[in-house]
Amino acid sequence: MSVKYDTVVIGAGPAGSSCGIALQRRGVKNCVIDKAVFPRHKTCAGMVTGKTYKLINRLFGEHDTDCLFCDTTSVIRLFQRREELVSAPLSAPVRLVKRKDFDNALVSRYRELGGTLFEGEKILRIDYAANKIKLKSGKTISYSNLIFADGALSIAHKRLDFKKEKLAFGIEAYVPRELFPTDSADIYFKYIDNGYVWVFPHGDTVCAGLGAPYRKGVDYKGVLVGFLRESGVDPDSAKYIGAFLPYGNPVPQNKLPDNVMLIGDAAGFADPITGEGLYMALRSGICAAESVLTKRPKESYLNSVKPLRRAVTDGKRAQSLFYSRALFQGFLNKARGREKFVGFFFDNVVEEYNYGYRQMAKLAKDYKKSK
Ligand SMILES: Cc1cc2nc3c(=O)[nH]c(=O)nc-3n(C[C@H](O)[C@H](O)[C@H](O)COP(=O)(O)OP(=O)(O)OC[C@H]3O[C@@H](n4cnc5c(N)ncnc54)[C@H](O)[C@@H]3O)c2cc1C
Repeated sequence: MSVKYDTVVIGAGPAGSSCGIALQRRGVKNCVIDKAVFPRHKTCAGMVTGKTYKLINRLFGEHDTDCLFCDTTSVIRLFQRREELVSAPLSAPVRLVKRKDFDNALVSRYRELGGTLFEGEKILRIDYAANKIKLKSGKTISYSNLIFADGALSIAHKRLDFKKEKLAFGIEAYVPRELFPTDSADIYFKYIDNGYVWVFPHGDTVCAGLGAPYRKGVDYKGVLVGFLRESGVDPDSAKYIGAFLPYGNPVPQNKLPDNVMLIGDAAGFADPITGEGLYMALRSGICAAESVLTKRPKESYLNSVKPLRRAVTDGKRAQSLFYSRALFQGFLNKARGREKFVGFFFDNVVEEYNYGYRQMAKLAKDYKKSK
């Protein structure tokens, strides 16, 4: 016998949990299925920008969210290899989360609202024609709407011929803070092509990692090991964990059945310049939940996430310009010593989407006016 839900969400990361929370609030009969048991690890630098913070507060309602964050910083520093180019103060602090705790808090919030989470569950088969999911535990679940929130390597991609080469790869290591003392969010360029190394404060540790387009044969770990060694940190003291993330290629959802939607990384929603995916995961999760009570959920959902799609595709164009041979060094030279401009950029393009990647000329003009 199968249990019927109006909406089934596969994946209980930030996208799936936020969707579940928003569905619970709307009184939609739903469940969330995850292959992992929470709390579980998720490779992520955990930077939470201002726009993401607002969504988190919306999801947690009256609850105080301060306890979710392991650190904050109000300074961003850019480096060209070891040379510090600029140390820019930000107008508002950036927050950091440990994903294990953060994702667990979101899942707990969903449960607190009465949500049904099937965790540690493997999906054996999805029958798209019959709207049924068979789980390894023996359960059969049927649905009216199916939402994939199962990350960058979503099982929905198998039907779409969406290859890993359309993704980026990131790898990171946690290092004791005393070995890498920094209070700022540090970005290092020129260690890897078309990507960067970061070091972010995470309480008593720092998260050191790198992200770049996925290409078979690239030794991502070797680059991070080399960076740590150059920074005076014994690379053998750290444990390295890698993961895929979207990289400027929204997944073509129109090719899936009309009652199937993709959210978060599964949809290819992450900023291709910064790698920030939490905002789009939460945003698209909420959008999907809001759409299921409309007459045509998928149409309504795809309309509501158009700004995210645009940010991803515009970001991809901006990224190829930024990293192009002709311009990249020029950008780094321009950033050198320009703390006000870098701060203005971060406040308005990263912390908030006040300017899209198509509006860089306007941003430069407005910055001049603001001086
Ligand atoms: C190295 C790295 C650093 C990053 N740093 C940042 C950062 O600092 N800030 C930021 O905003 N973003 C960052 N991101 C991106 C961010 O981690 C993702 O965009 C975000 O986790 C997307 O959330 P999601 O819910 O879509 O997917 P996920 O967080 O990947 O969650 C997917 C969930 O689905 C489950 N799942 C997977 N397959 C199945 C299956 N077959 N059946 C059932 N369940 C399944 C998984 O167990 C998981 O719980 C980073 C990513 C990487 C790789």
